[in-house]
Amino acid sequence: MSTEPSPALAGLEPASFWRHFESLTRIPRPSRAEEAAIEHVRAWAAGHGYELEQDSGRNLVVRVPATPGREDAPTVVLQGHLDMVCERDPSSTNDPAEGRIALVRDGEWLKADGTTLGADDGVAIAAMMALVEDESLPHGPLELLMTVAEEVGLEGANALDPALVTGSILVNLDSEEDGRLTVGCAGSTDTWIRIDGARDAAAEGAVTIGVTVSGGLGGHSGSGIALGRSNAVKVLGRALREAHATVPFRLVSFRGGKSRNAIPRDASAVVSVDASLDDEFRTALEAASSTIRDAFSKTDPGLTLTVAQADASDPPWTMETTTVMLDAVALVPTGPLAMSPDFDDLVETSSSLGEAITENGRLVLHSLSRSSNDSALPEVIAALDAAARLTGGELEVKHNYGGWRPNLDSPALAAARSAYERLFSEPPIVTAVHAGLETAVVGDKLPGLDMISFGPQIEAPHSPDERVSIPTVERFWALLVAFVDELSRPGQR
Ligand SMILES: [Zn+2]
Repeated sequence: MSTEPSPALAGLEPASFWRHFESLTRIPRPSRAEEAAIEHVRAWAAGHGYELEQDSGRNLVVRVPATPGREDAPTVVLQGHLDMVCERDPSSTNDPAEGRIALVRDGEWLKADGTTLGADDGVAIAAMMALVEDESLPHGPLELLMTVAEEVGLEGANALDPALVTGSILVNLDSEEDGRLTVGCAGSTDTWIRIDGARDAAAEGAVTIGVTVSGGLGGHSGSGIALGRSNAVKVLGRALREAHATVPFRLVSFRGGKSRNAIPRDASAVVSVDASLDDEFRTALEAASSTIRDAFSKTDPGLTLTVAQADASDPPWTMETTTVMLDAVALVPTGPLAMSPDFDDLVETSSSLGEAITENGRLVLHSLSRSSNDSALPEVIAALDAAARLTGGELEVKHNYGGWRPNLDSPALAAARSAYERLFSEPPIVTAVHAGLETAVVGDKLPGLDMISFGPQIEAPHSPDERVSIPTVERFWALLVAFVDELSRPGQR
């Protein structure tokens, strides 16, 4: 393992930040296997005489005393995650999972040769370490909260022992857009509607036909939900339901979507229809499909519905069950349901039908509903519950975590805003995201915690194209330094 400083970092400021950042690139830290990184932090904390605690979820807190004169300031928690997504081009000899990241300078950007860079969220850990080491930078008491396994469903944050954290203000350093202060995010709840139905042998002379929807653009089921794109499961359900109104057929299977987190781009059904109605069925489907494609002509120009002969492995559901199942798909809400009262163009509440599954003779409809306003979500769950009940199905509900509701009167926001304006002579963009962040989980465990999130510009995280903008790292650093100073200055309290 090379310990020579990388030429890619030559001359970059702040030097101590980049030195810590580079050390992290040489330590394997895939999600759930952060031990080497944990030992690295442990040795560093011991070397500086900082107290370190770890919970059973393996999250770390390093307690750093205030600088002289700032002892009475509120304790501020700086938070980031230790793990990184370890992706690589198949041909690359580098591998982050083995601590082999080769840094490359590309103009104003820093990237890695053939792998993820781990700026998500190495910048947070490096910034915390560099900040507290520099005795010329004033701050109140700090708690450095380093979580594990963020990239695998916020596992570390979910396992956080709240007793580890005593601070009243938390700064999350895992935002990827320069110039923005994030002050809210969505909580989420998974639901499954399960509909059992009788099957019956296919009618004499029936033909089996496969219907497939594809070509939609999909996207993230939270941050992309307001784009108005087609949901392949809903499109397929709608086309079949419209055809079913004039041509009787029976469903054999109905499937679509690959993940709760993504808007479905593909869906397919197998149906059993009387041979004499085959042409009529195709004509009815084509009529329905034409209207649907027109509805999405601007958002999903490539949307297609195709019909082909198919094989049936199971007997079809009865006509009655088919009607009920298509009603269920029609009833399940999908898309934005309410907009934020605080921010233009931001969704507050949404639901996305992410998966349709046919298993053990049942149809399962899996949705992910989100809101930054916890009080709004019960109405969405009620609609899903009603859809389940009206179609004779059962509803399973799994609440993941509550939302982080924006508080525009937050003292942390006021401090970050004034530091930002003083430094950069322009106002920051204050915003929230319609997706899950660790802050939602941490805030759920520590009610009343005043939180904010910011970071440098990071593009294409989780891919070998990941890169961080070097000038925005300088801005991020300056803002962090000014922020902890501002919050601890005696005159400010
Ligand atoms: Zn991250």
